[in-house]
Amino acid sequence: MADSALNTALRQFHAAADRAGLDDSQRVILTSFKTVFQTEFPVEMDDGSFRVFQGYRVLHNSALGPTKGGIRYSPNVTIDDVKALAMWMTWKCAVTGLPFGGAKGGVIVDPATLSQSALQNLTRRFTAEITPIIGPDKDIPAPDMGTNAQIMAWMMDTYSMSAGYTIPAVVTGKPVSLGGSEGRYEATGRGLMYILDEHLSDAGGVRGKTVAVHGLGNVGGVCARLLQQAGAHVQYICDKDTGIFRAEGVDADAAFAFIEAGGVLRDWDGAGERIAPSDVLLADVDVLVPAAVEHVLTGDNAGKVRARLILEGANGPTTPEADEVFQQRGITVIPDVVANAGGVTVSYFEWVQARQYLHWREAQVNEELRNVLIPAYRGIINRAMSTPDCTLREAAQWIGVERVVQATMLRGIYP
Ligand code: NAD
Repeated sequence: MADSALNTALRQFHAAADRAGLDDSQRVILTSFKTVFQTEFPVEMDDGSFRVFQGYRVLHNSALGPTKGGIRYSPNVTIDDVKALAMWMTWKCAVTGLPFGGAKGGVIVDPATLSQSALQNLTRRFTAEITPIIGPDKDIPAPDMGTNAQIMAWMMDTYSMSAGYTIPAVVTGKPVSLGGSEGRYEATGRGLMYILDEHLSDAGGVRGKTVAVHGLGNVGGVCARLLQQAGAHVQYICDKDTGIFRAEGVDADAAFAFIEAGGVLRDWDGAGERIAPSDVLLADVDVLVPAAVEHVLTGDNAGKVRARLILEGANGPTTPEADEVFQQRGITVIPDVVANAGGVTVSYFEWVQARQYLHWREAQVNEELRNVLIPAYRGIINRAMSTPDCTLREAAQWIGVERVVQATMLRGIYP
């Protein structure tokens, strides 16, 4: 298990628990999972045959409120990944100050290999399987890698049909026309930009900075687009097969529009030298944004990273070994639990709007997003700066763990 995301999440937790002074019983509670749901379910394919898929939904901790977290469709999902991602969601919601606990889900599938109707069948059947444990007051799924607004619409409809009436607050990340929030699609990328701009405020903000973005999906693509619009030079981008470098800046906006229309970078004809995706991680830039998958920055490549600052768009892109190397080398890492919290923050706004049958304008959403993220980020900076030898990740997880343990102690154990 040496390199699993769960091992990373547990090592990070114990480092935070040491700082927060948790005793052994508190550690046992906070490393336990409230619900671990695993299912094998049949799906009817286009030719009338059936295929069985494996899916998971893990609720980590609900001390601060109903659990919240995305659903991932990927051929590489494992139960340990889902547990790690659920645990990170708990600390993320806590450090951001949202009234949620953490959860995550996944189905072992490459969605690109399924037709739309098979994808819909899979989503509806999986939703039916997890219906007993999800709900607007219990556990609220959202998109993650390989899932999108359409899939959330099918989930919302399936859940609602089993109840007999429409329940929009059961998932977030829905299409805007179905009660989704303005600004949710851009929220994670926008949050990354807000935090980066704040972090660099003494150095003139993001304008003129050179950037490498690893992974050009919902998180990385929107982030690259917004950074380009804000005057940064996005010199490196990649998807899972193709990297692109251009010293004057790649047209990240156009490249991402090509991907949004269903393309892959291999077929994009925009200017730039084609390179290996993994080389994007070693780019000589001001800011590296890992925005693809876990564990891309490891003990093996951390010594070769040339960026001065790492802004974690993905969840868990940095292993503890890489963290140590970055700390020794003076490379600052703005950790996932705050850097990419824009998505869950606007998901919270969507849930609030759904429960009140209200619709906020995008300007309001973006302003409220900034109002949540910047104080959370500043709290982490202050904690790290007032503590000797404390990284931003340690400070962030420390604050998150502290809030969850306080809530647990206040509530007490029933019965
Ligand atoms: P996505 O599926 O929209 O995009 C993923 C991108 O990464 C794609 O461009 C894909 O080609 C690329 N990629 C995949 N494997 C790669 C590899 N090995 N090397 C290089 N590129 C690779 O997914 P997303 O929603 O953007 O999520 C990306 C990460 O951000 C995940 O870790 C996810 O958990 C995290 N995250 C997502 C959200 C959200 O709102 N979507 C919020 C917070 C965190």
